Amino acid sequence: MNCHYTYESKNKDDRRADYWSCIVIHHITLPDIAKIEDVVLMGREEELEYFKKICDFLCSTTSKVSAHYLIGRYGQIAELVDPKKYRAWHAGKSAWWDSKDRLWKYHVNNFGIGIELIGDGNKFEYTKEQYYALELLCRNLILEFKIPHINCLVGHETISNGYIRPDPKPDPGIFFRWNRIYFELYKNLGNEYGLVNV
Ligand SMILES: [Zn+2]
Repeated sequence: MNCHYTYESKNKDDRRADYWSCIVIHHITLPDIAKIEDVVLMGREEELEYFKKICDFLCSTTSKVSAHYLIGRYGQIAELVDPKKYRAWHAGKSAWWDSKDRLWKYHVNNFGIGIELIGDGNKFEYTKEQYYALELLCRNLILEFKIPHINCLVGHETISNGYIRPDPKPDPGIFFRWNRIYFELYKNLGNEYGLVNV
């Protein structure tokens, strides 16, 4: 899909599977650069500067982390790792319940596309522009990569809880509105992609 910005993160390697099974939602801030309390109040230009710094962080070899996409608080989308070719490094130690194959699958980076939202969903709401951008991006990815149904969309918190790793991940957090994103995707993709019982 055509994104507003395209970067080439160095934190990637070749895809391990010939299909993507799920999409993992994360949040990200850089506390050394700005406190989250300030980020949520940033105007468009200031936030764009911050967005570019996060892109640089996710592309630099020193961070050793990345995601396929980053969504800023004004809805801008950057592609950092091309999911057609590469695996990004976003999920770490993780396990996902595949409700289609009915089994646990480990190492979600191998089969999960990663999307980062700027923010902290345990402290502040995400913006409506972020939900619009996320819905559009997920809809395109689901169609392009034939991801089987919309509950293949999961949070990092779900695939990396205390049973899976000693340092469970908290993102995208309690303020992330799963119902909203599921409903929008369902509305636009239709029954064929509806939620399945797990
Ligand atoms: Zn995460």
